[in-house]
Amino acid sequence: MSVRVVARIRPLLKNTEIEKDRIIETYGEASDNKTTVRIPNPKVPAELYSFHFNSVYDDATQAELYDREISPQVRHLFKGFDVTIFAYGVTGTGKTYTMRGGKSLADRGVIPRLLSSIYRRARKIEKDTDGETQVEVRMSYYEIYNDKVYDLFEPPEQRTPAGLPIYDNRGKTVVVGLTERPCTSLKEFEQLYDQANVNRSTSATKLNAHSSRSHAILRVKVIQTTGDEVRISTASAIDLAGSEDNRRTDNNKERLVESASINKSLFVLAQCVEAISKKQARIPYRESKMTRILSLGQNNGLTVMILNLAPVRSYHLDTLSSLNFANRTKKIEVNEVENQP
Ligand code: ADP
Repeated sequence: MSVRVVARIRPLLKNTEIEKDRIIETYGEASDNKTTVRIPNPKVPAELYSFHFNSVYDDATQAELYDREISPQVRHLFKGFDVTIFAYGVTGTGKTYTMRGGKSLADRGVIPRLLSSIYRRARKIEKDTDGETQVEVRMSYYEIYNDKVYDLFEPPEQRTPAGLPIYDNRGKTVVVGLTERPCTSLKEFEQLYDQANVNRSTSATKLNAHSSRSHAILRVKVIQTTGDEVRISTASAIDLAGSEDNRRTDNNKERLVESASINKSLFVLAQCVEAISKKQARIPYRESKMTRILSLGQNNGLTVMILNLAPVRSYHLDTLSSLNFANRTKKIEVNEVENQP
């Protein structure tokens, strides 16, 4: 069981953001081996906070991030370990770009690249074993909204308001009645994934930007069968709800309920990440539905948390709170630097 926390700073947005407003600096032993993010204290700009991560990506391409952080996990997945990938950050920092990406091949994000690696490896294993080992891939896709679980393969109008029930099964928590679709190729996966994402965004318009207020969880089950032996492992890719709206003063009742449940699950998630990275015996995964369903820290799994950050001043407070969230486990250094803006 291990966790890696990596920060990804998106480039300035052409047209709207300018170099002068950049407040984040990144450091490391080499340009491709950065581990530190430095940002001023908003109240005392001469004071700089340093945050350390397993890796820091400043303006990295999709391929660089994937090849260095996610691709090595595919080997673990096929050895039978569960792999969990989170994207955390406020709206506008690049979570969707990181996880899903754009249309062009170069812009493809973590999810299509991961599936592409899984199919490539599956075909190789089948070929190398002369078909003795067969690999099957199945996907489920759901969201957790206000601590309720909804199947994204179901159109919103067919949902039961109470959400799907969950129950515990030998140390793992199982969502009852979740659709699991076999998908035999990347093309088939992408069709199902796009179709399910429509369900997520349809409900967005109905429920007030619902999509960024829910956690979307894609689970890809890899089933390797060799004779009587079956090995099952799961890759989970999670687009977390942002926490930035919690500071809004115009919170209506619906928003407050959403915020409370987002806050709670993100708080428990941070505690689990902290407990796992400190190798503590007790991981409080049972304290929110999301961490419970993922059995985060319970299995012999590997977790990668990608912290998405925007480099400019308009995100200053959000950036600090995201850095603090991800860095609960480490002591933060404060450096006094002269002549800082
Ligand atoms: P979020 O999902 O966190 O709200 P998005 O993924 O929608 O954020 O990103 C916000 C904007 O920034 C989009 O226009 C996206 O294309 C752009 N963007 C984000 N990350 C990158 C990146 N690494 N390289 C280029 N553009 C990016």
